[in-house]
Amino acid sequence: MVEGRELDGKVALVTGGSRGIGNAIAHALASAGAQVAVIGRGAGGAEKAAAALPGAGHRGWGCDVADPEVATTTVKAVESEVGPLDILVNNAGVTRDNILLRLKDEDWDEVMAVNLKGAFNMTRAATRGMMKRRDGVILNISSVVGITGNPGQSNYAASKAGLIGFTRSVARELASRGVRCNAIAPGYIETDMTGALTEEQTNALKERIPLGRLGLPEDIAGAARFLAGPSARYITGQVLTVDGGMVI
Ligand code: NAP
Repeated sequence: MVEGRELDGKVALVTGGSRGIGNAIAHALASAGAQVAVIGRGAGGAEKAAAALPGAGHRGWGCDVADPEVATTTVKAVESEVGPLDILVNNAGVTRDNILLRLKDEDWDEVMAVNLKGAFNMTRAATRGMMKRRDGVILNISSVVGITGNPGQSNYAASKAGLIGFTRSVARELASRGVRCNAIAPGYIETDMTGALTEEQTNALKERIPLGRLGLPEDIAGAARFLAGPSARYITGQVLTVDGGMVI
């Protein structure tokens, strides 16, 4: 293994890799030597993001992870055009926040469909080959909100808590077939999802974060690279909280 290139020869698929945390994860895996398939809702954004990654052979696909047929077709396309999947990162996620009494059925359903069923759709499609090859890594991007709950985010928190149960079950089910499955629970990370904050809001948040700053997508990407790589070969079924100490 070349020093600093621990993922040389590996193929990774990152959902929601066109922006934010997923894009930083795609960069980190590509920097470690992996060939990366970037998935976004639209093909254009995903292809552009793939072309900007370090190294060669990365590709982008448009895919709605919430659609089981499209998810399966996309995994097949990635495996035939890039190579058999070694690493799957289920990062695509959305928020539709509202207080419980105002939450509409469609807000609940969409968040569950993308954040939770999307991870199931992609994992079911990707693990068949991993199990046959007796090697693979699944990484699910949950949230500290799935651990603590959050007012105004009952749908989102439920989807992220669901991902933790999903992670532990998949880890138990597939460990004997050589497939590891872990989750990362990010705290407050600066991306499009969290939007621009006023100085007052930023200061209030910082007071709740022992390390004294908001997180960056790269903070999550470092943890993802570690969990995806050989240094984490004896780690499965875990939830790694990366939040500057916000939830201790
Ligand atoms: P973001 O900036 O809003 O990016 C979301 C990504 O998901 C985009 O690439 C988007 O693709 C993709 N996506 C959304 N719906 C999709 C679908 N149905 N099918 C395929 N791709 C879809 O979000 P982020 O802040 O980077 O968050 C990434 C993950 O981390 C999410 O699961 C989020 O819940 C979780 N998280 C974020 C924070 C935070 O503070 N930011 C904290 C905890 C957890 P397009 O570009 O094509 O729209």
